[in-house]
Order: sequence, then C-alpha cells, then structure tokens
Amino acid sequence: MNGNSSAEFKELVRSRTDIVQLIGETLTLQPQQGGKIYKGLCPFHEDHNPSFQVNPERQSYKCWVCSEGGDCFSFVMKHDNLGFPEALEFLAHRAHLELPTQVRRGPAESSHKPKLFEALAWAEQEFHDCLMSTAAGERARRYLQERGFTQATISRCKFGYSPDDREWLLRRARNRFDEQLLSGARLITERSDGNGYKDRFVDRVLFPIQDERGRTVAFGGRILPDHPWKEAPKYLNSDESLVFHKSELCFGLHWAREAIKKTRIVLVTEGYTDCLMLQQAGLTNTVATLGTALTESHVTLLKRIANTVVLIYDGDQAGKDASERALSKFLAQDVDLRILTLPGDLDPDEFLQQHGRSAMQHLIDSAPEVAEYELRALLTRYGTGTLDARLRILDGMLQLLIVSSGIAGTVKEDLLIGRLPQRLGLSESDVRKRLKDLRGQHRDRAIRSLGRKVAAIESTRETAQDLRKRGILLLQQSQSKDDLLECELLQVLLTSPCMIDVVRRDIGTDDFRNEVLKELLTCCFDLNDEGWHPEFDKLLSRLECSDLKGLVVWIDEQARNKRVAERLAMDDSEQDSNFSGGLLRQVLDGLKWRRKSETHRKIQDRLIARPPDVSKLTPETLDVLHRAHQYHQQRSSKKK
Ligand SMILES: [Zn+2]
Repeated sequence: MNGNSSAEFKELVRSRTDIVQLIGETLTLQPQQGGKIYKGLCPFHEDHNPSFQVNPERQSYKCWVCSEGGDCFSFVMKHDNLGFPEALEFLAHRAHLELPTQVRRGPAESSHKPKLFEALAWAEQEFHDCLMSTAAGERARRYLQERGFTQATISRCKFGYSPDDREWLLRRARNRFDEQLLSGARLITERSDGNGYKDRFVDRVLFPIQDERGRTVAFGGRILPDHPWKEAPKYLNSDESLVFHKSELCFGLHWAREAIKKTRIVLVTEGYTDCLMLQQAGLTNTVATLGTALTESHVTLLKRIANTVVLIYDGDQAGKDASERALSKFLAQDVDLRILTLPGDLDPDEFLQQHGRSAMQHLIDSAPEVAEYELRALLTRYGTGTLDARLRILDGMLQLLIVSSGIAGTVKEDLLIGRLPQRLGLSESDVRKRLKDLRGQHRDRAIRSLGRKVAAIESTRETAQDLRKRGILLLQQSQSKDDLLECELLQVLLTSPCMIDVVRRDIGTDDFRNEVLKELLTCCFDLNDEGWHPEFDKLLSRLECSDLKGLVVWIDEQARNKRVAERLAMDDSEQDSNFSGGLLRQVLDGLKWRRKSETHRKIQDRLIARPPDVSKLTPETLDVLHRAHQYHQQRSSKKK
C-alpha cells in the first residue's frame, strides 16, 4: 500500500466526518458553553453523570472517568468493536467516499465483518423473495397471515422463508460466497458426518435480526406448524458470530429509536415476535431481548435515549422469575425501571389480541417501578401476619439495596427505605440499623472476593497490549517527575508542532523513559521524517491503537489546562532577550540533564563494581573522568 495516498485518504475521511454528528447517532449529546463542548453519558463505562465530552473544534472525544478518548476512527473502533481498516471503511461509506484500490484490504487481512454483513444482507433478500413470490412460500405466507402480521410489517421487516431443502441457500450462494464465509455468518452448518455443509434454516419463517445501525446480523427462525419432523425445535436463532452478540443486542431498536427519543419511554419484551406485534399495534417504542434476561449492556444502551424502561413479561412463572432476576442490577441506575407482568398467564401478543391496544397502554402507564414491584411480590409471598414474615420481607428489600452498587446514601435510597417502616409496621431506626448490619456483612464478603480476583489477575500473564493499556491508565492517574517532564515536551509539540526541529536538535527518542510516551515521541519523529509537522490530527491519523489516541487527546487537554500556548507565545515575544528561560528550553534542558546524569551514574556504578587499576589509565582518561565528576557535582548542588 502506498503510504502517502492511504494517509491522504484517511485525512479525507476525517475531514468529511463530523464527530458530533457521528457520536450523536448512538448517544444523546447536549451542547455546553454555547456549543464549544458536547456532553453525554459515556458509552464505555457505567456512567451516571454525563462525563463524556466531545470537542467539535478538535474533533475529539474524552471521558473524564474511564479515560477513553480519541477521534472519529477510535470511536467507531471501540464502540463497534472493529479493527482500524473496518472503521475506515465504515466511515468512508458513511461519507459516501469510494475506497481507493490501494486502501482496500487484501484477502490476507483478517477483517471480514463487512463480508459477513454483505452475505447476511444477500441472504435476507433471497429469503424475502422466496417468501413473497414463490409457490414454496405459500405455506409461510399463510402462517404469517394467521399469526396476524400485516403486509406492511412483512415488507418493512423483510420477513423471509427458507424452503424445506437442506441445500437451497448453499446452491444459490455458489460462485458468490464461499462456505467459510456462509458458515461465519451462521447461515450454514457443518454436516454431522463431516461431509461438507448444509443450510441452517429449513422450512422456517425467518425474522431478520438487526443491530442498532440497522444491519442484519442474524435470523430468528420459526418452523412451520405443519412441518413433518415433529422434533424440530419451534424457534431456532442464528448462533452468535463476529457480528451477532445476543446479550448486547436490543432487537428492533433501529426501528424504535425515533419513537423512544420522542416519548423517552422504551418497552422491552422477551422475544422478537412480541416486539414485532407491539410495534405493529402502534407501540412503536418497543424493543426485545433475545431469549436472555435484560443485561447491563442493554440498560446502558437504552438509557442513553430513554428515561423510563418498562419490562413487559409474560404472566407465566418463567416470565416472573426472569423479571425478578433482572431487578437488583438496575436499582442504582439512573433510569426509571418498571415491571409489567401481564394478567392471566397471557403473553403480550395474546393480551393485545384479547384486550386491544388501549388496555395494554393502561397497563404500561400503571406499571410499578422495580422496588414497589419487589415489595408487592414479597408481601404476596410472606404476608404481614407475623413479625418473622415482616422481617423476611425487610431483609428481601434491603438485600435489593445492598447489591445495587452506588445507591448508598442517595435520595433514591432514602425514598426506598422511607416506605418500609409504615408498610411493615417497623420503626425507621430498626430498618436503618438492619441495613447497616447487612451492608457490613456484604462488604466483608465483597472484600474477600475482590482479594481473590486481584490475585487471579496478577497470576495471569499480560499481553503487550494489556501492558500498554495499563501503562496509559497508570500515567493518567499519577505522574512521576520523569513522566511530567516527558509529557511537557509532548504538550509543547502538540501545541506548536513546528518546534519539532528545535526538539530534534537536542533530544532523541531514547531520552524518554516512559514506554508509552516514547511511542508517541517516536511517532512524532516518524511524521517529521516524512516531511510533516506532528500536528494533532496527523498524529491521531497515524496512530492506530485507540489507547494511544486517547493518550494524545489527554495530553492535548493538559496542554490547554496548563496554558501551554500562551506560555509559548510569551516566550516567543521575549525570544531575543531571554530565550533560555523559555518553556521549551526548560524542558529540553531538563531532559538533557537527566541523560547526562544517567550516563554519569552508569560510569560511577561501573567504576564501583569493577574499580580500574588507576595506575593503568592514561592521563587523558583520568582528566576526562575528573572533569565529568566536577560537572555533575556542580549540577547536583545547583539543583538542590
Ligand atoms: Zn467513560
């Protein structure tokens, strides 16, 4: 690949991408300081106050809690879990730019997510055409009609059908997609006798499953009711793949997003057919989990666009268990989580058909929030007849508080505790004392288990990347005197890249001791060798590791906080009279001094370890040693 044109293309993609718009596509950003900064909930850690900042001027982002930061490329890499080439391809496509042939990746390069998306989109169309316009699709069309799906839903969601033929898709894919790729997309599976592949979905209606950007990543398949093989599972989903992660995916989010943004309420069902039915009935702010309980990644995803999450679960016991498992995890989240359990063992689809949309809406509006739901469940289970029962209920409710990290001492906790004395006929001081005891026990257990975890982590070997990541985190938390000096030099370079020439006259990359800072300095020098100044954008373009990009953004912010630009400008105006006192000069002198004293120390150590026979040294060598010794003594006493 031609280095220059690839760098130019990266720059072109960057210049056509507005980072505020890009990030705004997946999370809600609020302008601050008249639009100089945008703030939102960080997508990379469990964020309760908006600590994620986007800087439109620098086209960078930064989280002040978890230290993630970087540019448009690193955002896409981190957020969508992509490699650099794929992120470039994604952003180029988004900016309607054609990838130049030199930039296009060869087959040797590992990334094949875009290929998977291509195969899945193709299969979706094949299945859809088969459903809509073949004789074989007739039974499937009838089934969908009986289930109550309208033509509009079928077309909009591109339902499909895979005929009763184990090689239908395989044949159609011939000369188009190879078997490795189809298998990676989970469209075909290996035959159990090891003789090649067969279609994964046979005689099934197919419901495409899309990610939050609307790309098809998997299928849910419902066997047709009159299928002859009675043991076939009723529902069959694609297995997880490079592009399909069940526990992170909210089915239907891509269609529901606008309605959720408008109402700030999201309804969550446990399966995709319920979700599709609710959406079809006009409850367009509905999404579904795919056969898993609500996970923290789901909630993190949803609370960026909604204030209220209503879990809609079947009336049967399995549904109730699932909702109770989910509760405690979300109590401390700054989202209003409500639980709706449907009456009479009905699932949402059945309830809608029997009672209609307005009855459903009424249930949604009156759904109890998590703690109230739990309290009602405990009251039903134990009653309040005996003191023992009331204490059991108290412990159950307090347990909920204790496992919710981050709720201790909050208004929310006060509200939750406040209702207990009256409902349980206990005094408030008893309730608080019990909470304190239980919390103490819980903390002891947590500390013991944390100790075990730390020991386990320390015993595993770290990869080079882990080491680098840890180095960057440590550096951002606290800096040694050496680190500060090296950071200062990089701050100067980021603020005033043209100073690189002055820097290189005095300093080499070996003068840096911190490994990650050395990587950045090396990158600055490399750019300089190619005829560039190490400007912020250029540096971000060049670095492909998103952790290092985050570090660049961090150093750049530090430079602004320390007013490096103003200090350099001041030095500039005084250059004639006293340049030697300038910021850059100070930093360079500091680094040079450090190098010299290290050399000196090494010589000293060597002399101590292996004292030379002084009588054999030449007078010249003795003289050099003597003068070096004097010089360093002087510098040391001056420093003190
Ligand atoms: Zn964060």
